[in-house]
Amino acid sequence: MESDPNALRDPYKPDMGDSELPDLECAICFCQFNNVFNTPKVLQCKHTFCLECLARMNIKSNQPDTIQCPLCRSYTPLPDLGLPKLANNSTVLSYLPSAMQHVYSIRFNRNKGKLQVKRVPSSVPIHTHTVSQSLDVGMPAGMQGSSGEGRERSLLMTILRTPLCKAFLMSTVAIIAVVLTITIIILQQKR
Ligand SMILES: [Zn+2]
Ligand SMILES: [Zn+2]
Repeated sequence: MESDPNALRDPYKPDMGDSELPDLECAICFCQFNNVFNTPKVLQCKHTFCLECLARMNIKSNQPDTIQCPLCRSYTPLPDLGLPKLANNSTVLSYLPSAMQHVYSIRFNRNKGKLQVKRVPSSVPIHTHTVSQSLDVGMPAGMQGSSGEGRERSLLMTILRTPLCKAFLMSTVAIIAVVLTITIIILQQKR
């Protein structure tokens, strides 16, 4: 039965001795993997990084539908349902404390640059979980003032908010009112 030891090997486990522990730290941020924002996610190249780092990379990338492995440069297409749906590294998870065995359901809001807790695992009692509900991972490049409409609107808002411009508008209205009154008076005197 023990003729082929590789047959039992976890496909996500890179080539390493069976006695060796998998890396429990993310190679990018050196944070310990956990079951919330630092969930270990496996790319197609079998390299594992935490969700937070992948989200930060995805936000800076100009190819939001794929993620490029920072170690081997190969591309992994993102799942239709988003970055958090990438496969978890079950081997790494199995080495985490028993309280971390159930992974939180996370939503990745790329436009807002946020990772948000969508659902707390049922194994975690509500009153004991102290995890923050969302995490900022930076804003996407070119999101600030990129759309022309938004910029025009903000320009208008700036004009309206400037006291000098407001005073100018008010005095224009006053001058028009005065001119109209004078015109009416002149017209009445001509009759
Ligand atoms: Zn990381
Ligand atoms: Zn890789």
